[in-house]
Amino acid sequence: METIVRQQLAELLPQMEVCPCEKCQLDIQALVLNSLPSHYVVTEKGEMMTSIDQTLPQNQADLYAAITKACVLVGSNPQHDLN
Ligand SMILES: [Zn+2]
Repeated sequence: METIVRQQLAELLPQMEVCPCEKCQLDIQALVLNSLPSHYVVTEKGEMMTSIDQTLPQNQADLYAAITKACVLVGSNPQHDLN
């Protein structure tokens, strides 16, 4: 799940007018992960994992919307001083 978000972020961030520093990217990533509805599955080893079915268009749209929202939020209120 986190990998999917990271991939989508890497694709979308260049199109967003947002600070490209690591701090802001991590903030955005955290916001996206927190805002997404997660589907929890327990593996055979008993580990909790989150997964999202990327083949569903609705999930792609949700992910895109969450990333856009997080970029706007962080971009308008960065957690550090801008030079
Ligand atoms: Zn930044």
